[in-house]
Amino acid sequence: MGSRQIKALFGGIFGHFLLRIFVIQLLSALLIIGCMLPYFSQWMTQMQREQGNSIAQALIAATHAAISGTNTLSLETYTKQLLQRQPDIRYVVFNLPKQQDMAISQQHVIKQRQNLPFLGATDLRSTQTLVSHSQFIPTGLPLNVEDQFLFSTTFNSQSNAIGRISVAYRNQSFFSLMQAYFAQFALVLLGSVCLGLFLFFLFSRKIRQQIHTFSYVARQLSRGELTTRAPEKAIGEISLLSKSVNKMASNLEAQSKHLTRMAQMVAQTNDAFVLFDHGFNFSFANAALQKLTGYSAQAFEQADLKSFANTLQLDIGNLKQALLMMQVNMSSAFNQDILLTRRDGHTLHVHCRLEQIYDDETDIEHYLLVLSDISQRKSLERELHSLAYFDKLTGLPNRRMFIDYLVKRIKKAERTPCPFALFFMDLDDFKNINDTMGHEAGDVLLQQVAKRLKEIFRSTDLVARLGGDEFIVLIENTNAPDPVDLALLAGKAIQMLSSHPIVLNGRALTIGTSIGIALYPDNGVDTDSLVKNADTAMYAAKKSGKNNYAFYNESMNIALREYLEIETDLKSAILAHDQLQLHYQPIVDLHNKHMVGVEVLARWLHPTKGVISPSKFINVAEKTDLILTLSERLLNQAFRQAKTWQSRGFKHYVSVNISVRQFEKPNFINMLTSLILDYEVDPSKLQLEFTEGVMLDHSDITFEKFEAIKSLGFRVAIDDFGTGYSSLSYIHKLPIDVIKIDQAFVANLLNNEKSQAILSAITQLCNQLGIQTIAEGIELNTHETLLIECECQYGQGYLYDASMLLHQLEDKYLPLFPEESLAFAEAEVTE
Ligand code: C2E
Ligand code: CA
Ligand code: CA
Repeated sequence: MGSRQIKALFGGIFGHFLLRIFVIQLLSALLIIGCMLPYFSQWMTQMQREQGNSIAQALIAATHAAISGTNTLSLETYTKQLLQRQPDIRYVVFNLPKQQDMAISQQHVIKQRQNLPFLGATDLRSTQTLVSHSQFIPTGLPLNVEDQFLFSTTFNSQSNAIGRISVAYRNQSFFSLMQAYFAQFALVLLGSVCLGLFLFFLFSRKIRQQIHTFSYVARQLSRGELTTRAPEKAIGEISLLSKSVNKMASNLEAQSKHLTRMAQMVAQTNDAFVLFDHGFNFSFANAALQKLTGYSAQAFEQADLKSFANTLQLDIGNLKQALLMMQVNMSSAFNQDILLTRRDGHTLHVHCRLEQIYDDETDIEHYLLVLSDISQRKSLERELHSLAYFDKLTGLPNRRMFIDYLVKRIKKAERTPCPFALFFMDLDDFKNINDTMGHEAGDVLLQQVAKRLKEIFRSTDLVARLGGDEFIVLIENTNAPDPVDLALLAGKAIQMLSSHPIVLNGRALTIGTSIGIALYPDNGVDTDSLVKNADTAMYAAKKSGKNNYAFYNESMNIALREYLEIETDLKSAILAHDQLQLHYQPIVDLHNKHMVGVEVLARWLHPTKGVISPSKFINVAEKTDLILTLSERLLNQAFRQAKTWQSRGFKHYVSVNISVRQFEKPNFINMLTSLILDYEVDPSKLQLEFTEGVMLDHSDITFEKFEAIKSLGFRVAIDDFGTGYSSLSYIHKLPIDVIKIDQAFVANLLNNEKSQAILSAITQLCNQLGIQTIAEGIELNTHETLLIECECQYGQGYLYDASMLLHQLEDKYLPLFPEESLAFAEAEVTE
């Protein structure tokens, strides 16, 4: 056992108990000894008395004759021998009945008459007694009479006391005897104390170990090893203590973990935590402060809240107010999105929160400033705002923003009258460009147009894109300070858009625009009616010839209504079967005026409105999917007619108009194939007319489709050549059989020599390439003459024939037997 262990053993609670147990045992031993002391002396006296008695009785027996006789010599001798054997006896006194009294010690024999004082005490005569009274001691004894005990008893003869014998003991021997006894007793007691302590030591091993473990655990805990736990399976209170300490440790551990987590959070969070003391002096900042601002916490060591805010150029105005509020009223906290300036000079959007923190312990308030980077949120907000309010493609405000603006503008005008105007703008034939050149090209065009519109209008006027190819402009303060000439402005806008072609995929496109103008308050005092009326005016402008503008007037609504009516009626017309008819216009050889083919033209026999021209309803149909059903029906009718004529042996071809939408349908080629099969018609007797819009898309699909149409055996014609996006390049590339020169071009021939030259060039080129040319809209003989001069081969027009009904055509060009004619007429009706 080392000194440390000894120290641990006796220095600890065990030593404490050991000492106390020792003291307790010792005290109780002393108490026992103290209590036993009177009994000891009693026992001693008893022993002495018995010893005295036995000695006296022995003396009496041995010296009986001498006592009762007169020969005291033998008495003396015997007694002296006894005294030599018994050194504790100092002397023996005989009070003899007939003789003198005798006191015998080892050295002396004193004889006296019967007046020895010890006989005077009557109580001594009858009882055996141990006394220490000096008065009973014979005076002549040369002994220290104080130092003795005296045993005294009578001796009898025939039951009568006849004398007395007293034995005197040394006082000292009595005490030494007692001492010896007592010492042994004390030794035994002490031994038992030691044994007790030893047994305590032995049996307290377990408890000592448990206490030791417990104190070890406590030490570990105190060092911060909070995961240490005391064994709970222990004795009594140690177990309880262990449990309590373990619970405490668990709580502390949880708390410390919580605190660690909190500290980690504060250290690692992206939000800057800046603590100011009650005097608004900087006291702490986490690492995020540097990340956020570029300034380390040290930079602010001497700073107060004000200089902190100044360094970061925080908008402290509101902060100050919040602080004042805080000082007055605990609950108020500063909570705002603000802008801070980083060390590198860049600004950053942050959410700033200043809160009062109350320290319970110190009873002092602190101020916590939390700065969170919200730049991402801000940019997202901006993005969302721009998504919601700006058109992604052109960057112009969108419909929603425009309407919001218009609402505000109207409110403003309601307070102080200041009229304004709306320009509703729609690009002419944009759909064609989009459909044929692809959406990407269309997008580029729209971007270019948006750019131009911004240049055309004043910065105070709001230019927005409503969607598709529709733009709207709010022309501000049309009356003041200088009245705006809206007609002039609209004309200028149209001119600026159309005079400089926009180059797309290497092709220059002229942009026509139709503008509808509505005035506030004359044409409407709310957003809906203003926009709607501007839109109506735009339609009117478009109808009156594209690239035009129109001011809104009441009658326009009627036209619009008509348009909408056509749309609804057209649906039922398609269902009604008998409302859609085909008319036929001959195509003639300009040289001999013989009919070479027939163009099939649609007519709508409206039940109430009469015959409606395709130029009215095809447009409407093209704006919806109606065109597909309509075209398919017309195509079927045309094929059926072609088949009839074919079976009758006529050589003329039938020319059919194909709309762009129809051509674009993925199953267009399949449809043509099944039409050939269904009607068993020779495709070379069918001419398909496509407008130039179909060709504008230079995609492979377009070329492939044309190749497919050609390989099926159809005649391919380009309709309305010379009006749209004329380009001769595709003439080489595409398998074209015919070019139909537009009637506008033909009409121009008379007063424009340049047109003649162009026409000649085109026809010559076509002739070289083996492409036929058909001129449309020939109304006059001069047209014919000029066309023949220009080497145009074929023609179509009122000069020869307008479009006519089947029977009219057949009567004139394809005479039939009467029965045959009847049969076909019936077939027409049943469709
Ligand atoms: P388009 O293909 O250019 O047809 C020629 C148009 O000019 C026809 O008008 C015809 O009646 C008219 N016309 C013929 N000769 C003369 C003339 O000497 N002077 C004048 N001023 N006009 C003449 P229509 O029948 O009203 O057809 C208009 C347009 O409707 C057609 O123009 C064509 O693009 C389209 N269309 C007609 N029928 C169909 C059809 O079945 N399907 C498709 N997709 N479009 C059709
Ligand atoms: Ca045509
Ligand atoms: Ca035409």
